[in-house]
Amino acid sequence: MIGAGAPFGRLDAEQLVTLADVADVFGKGELRLTPWRAVLVPHVRPEAAAQALAGLDAAGLIVAADDPLLAVVACPGRPACRSASVDARTNARALAPLARRLTNDGLALHVSGCEKGCARPGETAVTLVGHDGRYDLVIRGRACDEPVARGLSPSQAKAALAELAEAG
Ligand code: SF4
Repeated sequence: MIGAGAPFGRLDAEQLVTLADVADVFGKGELRLTPWRAVLVPHVRPEAAAQALAGLDAAGLIVAADDPLLAVVACPGRPACRSASVDARTNARALAPLARRLTNDGLALHVSGCEKGCARPGETAVTLVGHDGRYDLVIRGRACDEPVARGLSPSQAKAALAELAEAG
């Protein structure tokens, strides 16, 4: 059995085709969805696992436990959502390596297209909240909480995150 994570909990059509192909070639044509944003491919022989995982990796799926994308969560943002003024997922992907440095394990950064915080209603160590094309910064709070800084460009948000990561 092997498994792969869906970045930001989303699978596109090509990734679904790849998963189906991997299940056909290396397993028994079976896929299992989990509640943890991952898909399992049962019946993959141990000696074929590396090759099967390489195929999933090439399709952009998460196959490593230390993948930086596991440290971030983001809503669809702009242009998918009309409430968003920022491209939350693109920015979250770019910030993922820094987010990984904020904590050794688990989620560290929530990038939200607006203060509604659809991707994560609870607290996160760091939350960036889109507003008029820039980001507000919330520390240990939710997207609707009071920010400690406002109006950061994506590069300023990156610098703020780097500072937090440096401070440990
Ligand atoms: S948090 Fe805001 S921008 Fe993101 S999906 Fe929800 S409503 Fe849209």
